[in-house]
Amino acid sequence: MNLSTPIEEIPRVGPQYQKRLKKLGLKTIRDLFFHFPHRYEDFSNLIPIAKAQAGGPFCFQGEILDAKNIYTFRKRMVLTQATLGDETGRLKVIWFNQPYLINTFKKGDYVCLAGKITKKNGSEYLSNPAYEKIPKDFRFNTELTHTGRLIPVYPETEGLSSKWLRFIVKPLLLKLREKLQDPLPEKIRKKFNFLPFQKAIWQIHFPDSLKLAEEAKKRFAFEELFTLSIFILKERLRLNREKAIPVPLNLELIKGFIKSLPFKLTDAQKKSAWQILKDLEKPKPMNRLLEGDVGSGKTVVAAMAALNVAKAGYQVAFMAPTEILAKQHFKTINELFKNFNLKIGLLTSKKKIRKEGTDILIGTHALLQPPTKSGGGVKFEKLALVIVDEQHRFGVEQRAKLITNDYKLTTAQKMIPHFLSMTATPIPRTLSLTIYGDLDLSIINELPKGRKKIITKIVQPKDKKETYEFIRQQVKEGRQVFVICPRIEPCTRAELGTGQALQQTLSWLEVKAVKDEYQKLSKEIFPDLKIGMLHGKMKTEEKEKTMRDFKAKIIDILVSTSVVEVGVDIPNATVMMIEGSEKFGLAQLHQFRGRVGRSDLQSFCFLFTDAPGIVTNRRLRALMVCEDGFELAEKDLAIRGPGDFSGTRQWGVPDLLMDSLKDIFLVQETRQSAKEILEEDPQLKKYPLLKKRLEEFKEGIHLE
Ligand code: ADP
Ligand code: MG
Repeated sequence: MNLSTPIEEIPRVGPQYQKRLKKLGLKTIRDLFFHFPHRYEDFSNLIPIAKAQAGGPFCFQGEILDAKNIYTFRKRMVLTQATLGDETGRLKVIWFNQPYLINTFKKGDYVCLAGKITKKNGSEYLSNPAYEKIPKDFRFNTELTHTGRLIPVYPETEGLSSKWLRFIVKPLLLKLREKLQDPLPEKIRKKFNFLPFQKAIWQIHFPDSLKLAEEAKKRFAFEELFTLSIFILKERLRLNREKAIPVPLNLELIKGFIKSLPFKLTDAQKKSAWQILKDLEKPKPMNRLLEGDVGSGKTVVAAMAALNVAKAGYQVAFMAPTEILAKQHFKTINELFKNFNLKIGLLTSKKKIRKEGTDILIGTHALLQPPTKSGGGVKFEKLALVIVDEQHRFGVEQRAKLITNDYKLTTAQKMIPHFLSMTATPIPRTLSLTIYGDLDLSIINELPKGRKKIITKIVQPKDKKETYEFIRQQVKEGRQVFVICPRIEPCTRAELGTGQALQQTLSWLEVKAVKDEYQKLSKEIFPDLKIGMLHGKMKTEEKEKTMRDFKAKIIDILVSTSVVEVGVDIPNATVMMIEGSEKFGLAQLHQFRGRVGRSDLQSFCFLFTDAPGIVTNRRLRALMVCEDGFELAEKDLAIRGPGDFSGTRQWGVPDLLMDSLKDIFLVQETRQSAKEILEEDPQLKKYPLLKKRLEEFKEGIHLE
């Protein structure tokens, strides 16, 4: 047996358990070792029975003097009641509803029990203790697994108890831990004074103290972050060595385009466009992220780059995350370039308007497909620029493709296109340095002139009625309203399953929430108004019809899930009403808010909440006073951690890494260390273990 031994070959792991482990993504012994506990139970307080008192947890060792099952009819429960004895006294022990335990404890067995002492009606008993059998001649220094020490508690999964995991992992660790080698270069380990690898892996599972557990955790978190940094930096170095088509800046053309616009560009738009156009002139691929709040006018900036490239005789691919957005861009781009004589195409999985031979091809991820024999996919002849809108909304695989720029030219030139991605979700610096691939940033930090500040209000249940009246008034004045509702989740994550099943359940829950809200609004609250509904389970045609109706003012109020493409531009909408607003992240709430306030009309954002908790309030209040998406994103990261940033969860980023992504100082320091190692040894020849770790890491993110 070694680290890469598949779990099927581990003794005592039957087919049922193999399935459950796989559900967690654990395939090898190594995976098991890196499935870390998320907390510890302190069962180390070993005391003689005479010292027992209410409270705990305490740990006792002794002999089972008797054990029996008692059936209580009133409460319909089975109690397994036993007496434990040691040299100092006797203790009553009760387990609830685990009748099979009677087969585990036989009179005369020696056991170690750990748990809390409950005092009831004057008598004390040890309640539902953890247990483990011990030899008769037991001494305190005997190695225990489930009691008598700090006990690892693993993230709960159906059918996989922490006890079972301890039972399997411990002997494997004892046997194989010598084979584990530290992928971190020695000098890094020394610099940060990390625990040695073998000690750390033992201490994170079976720690001697919480402090050591914490140190071990820190070390592995660093390792994850370090590997990620190496991965990102290597990609970056690779990109820097690649060649791209230098596209000269045609200033006359750009000036002409700016003149043709019905508005004046903001300074931030000009500056961003300049940075992009300058990058395009270089013979190496641009890798740039254009960040700007919703409504800040990113499209027109991207359009300038597209125009410059297309008029120089090269092709542009412009990708959007959904069919509806792709179509909207197709319309916008056609409109912007109507006097520029360009061949503009549209390609989605459903629709094709002039695919080959276009100057600018707009579409969904269908654009990423290489040509197939049956005529699917696209063949670009001279693709020089790829623009990706709302990058964070693309699926993992597509993102991995994009980040590694696997998007090669199909010509013999072997050049790769310049890459511009756009997002309205401001990405905190720690994330843009790491999981977003260390992109260069252009930021549009001002909105076009004349936009009014959106009035944001937290609406408690008692103020709902008044707010509905206000909304009715807005509609009377000819305005339109968005309503966003979060899904209602059942109590536990475990009920939801994982992977694809989870995605399915979640999207159904979303649909249910939207339907319920739709019913409520159209039947009870606004029976006099026209209400529409939008959710992920609708057909594209249905969605499009709804959006068209909304745009044409046939619908007054549009009820929608958070995920559906509200990205569409409806300047006449002035109210954004968010149900259960405490369930959303700040960045996301800010995004929703950006759907209104897109004209010179005064707009409003109402945050409905029935959870007046402190944290919720802190977040919602931040939204009231702060209009800057970047500031909000940083706050969100600090309060909730990166798990809620769309996309990060899908990356299969381990929790440990998640935590460290909160810490800009750590990220920078780690990045610096990674840089030094790569500068010294770009191919990692001196660090074969690190290189191997990196391979595994890459596989991990691509396969997830
Ligand atoms: P986003 O950054 O959210 O993608 P868009 O590019 O869709 O924003 O722009 C939002 C709206 O603002 C569009 O209707 C666009 O025509 C308009 N717009 C863009 N730039 C300006 C500007 N400088 N002045 C006025 N309106 C602008
Ligand atoms: Mg946009």
